[in-house]
Amino acid sequence: MRYAPVPDQLTRLSELDAAWREASAGARLVAVRTAARGLHDRLAAGGPVVSVRTADIATFPYPTRFGLEGAARTIAPYVMMRNRVQLVQVRAGGALVNILVNPSDAQRSLAAPFFAQQIERYGKLVATRVMSTMHGTVADALTEWGVDPADIDYITFDHLHVQDVRGLLGTIIPEPGATEPTPALLPNARLLAQRSELATLEQPHPLHRHWYVEGGLLGVDPRKIIALDGDFALGAGFALVRTPGHTIGNHSPVVVTDRGLWTISENGVAVDAYAPEASAIAGLRSHARRHGVEVILNANTREHTLDQYTSMVLEKTLADPCPDRPEFPQHFSSSELVRHPLAPGLGPTYSHGAITFGQVVTRKAAAPPAARPVAHA
Ligand SMILES: [Zn+2]
Repeated sequence: MRYAPVPDQLTRLSELDAAWREASAGARLVAVRTAARGLHDRLAAGGPVVSVRTADIATFPYPTRFGLEGAARTIAPYVMMRNRVQLVQVRAGGALVNILVNPSDAQRSLAAPFFAQQIERYGKLVATRVMSTMHGTVADALTEWGVDPADIDYITFDHLHVQDVRGLLGTIIPEPGATEPTPALLPNARLLAQRSELATLEQPHPLHRHWYVEGGLLGVDPRKIIALDGDFALGAGFALVRTPGHTIGNHSPVVVTDRGLWTISENGVAVDAYAPEASAIAGLRSHARRHGVEVILNANTREHTLDQYTSMVLEKTLADPCPDRPEFPQHFSSSELVRHPLAPGLGPTYSHGAITFGQVVTRKAAAPPAARPVAHA
């Protein structure tokens, strides 16, 4: 597929390139950890973004053996996770740029076999109302923040599991069963994704199919899809850094606020996964000690298990410590573990809940004031 070229607003970051080229996994881990420190300092020096806001999208059950890699001592079959969207506003070349990070279309996500099979097993009412909760849509969040959907410039996801962007970006041909092309909720937005992640959607492997919405990109104008090959900065305080593992085309949005750097992804499902030695979830600390590991993988796919470990080390090296709990990094799991009666003992030791920083600027307020007509007496 011919995707759109990378816009001039994005700057290629090459700090990690040589490290990822190391041939052996052990050497790659050492090299990535070292190079991450340099990238951290470069991004921190660029200063914070203009603003960040977070909204809850949906809470859903997820097999415990995937979420905590079988390390938690529990008989509960599911952990509960909450998916969230971020609005990130940055200045790039003097212009205000609006980015939505992980703007999941939860209704369309239900078509992914992972969710479709839960509905088949438990019934639609139980699966979508009792076990899961829909908190709000991307449109609701934009209304709450006072941002016009037409002002969103880019969307990006840390990876494209269970995503279907046709309602966000619109289509140029009718979807199956429709007579008209789908209108775009975000008419001026373009998707930023790694080329390798887009390739997965174009031709999924049988082991991919459980997690991807078939046709989730089908009919979207390819000029609205920007294929990235590598790490990029977008304005001051925002970057997309490759973190392969959970999926091959995984990348982590990095956001700089007054609290330093944040990383966002689903390589791990909570801060517990990034600092198991400080976790209060039964079994995590002893698992980490027994196996001599410093992270607990979100292990549903294991596309590249060793690199997923390295990517999590990269994330926790980039992310600054939480000011109030410095043993935990500011890694924001895109679907974060939450306390829930259906998952006793499996709540996170520390929860971010949201990233909030600065004041949301609307395009009308950002534009220079229009010349007022002079009143003549
Ligand atoms: Zn995933």
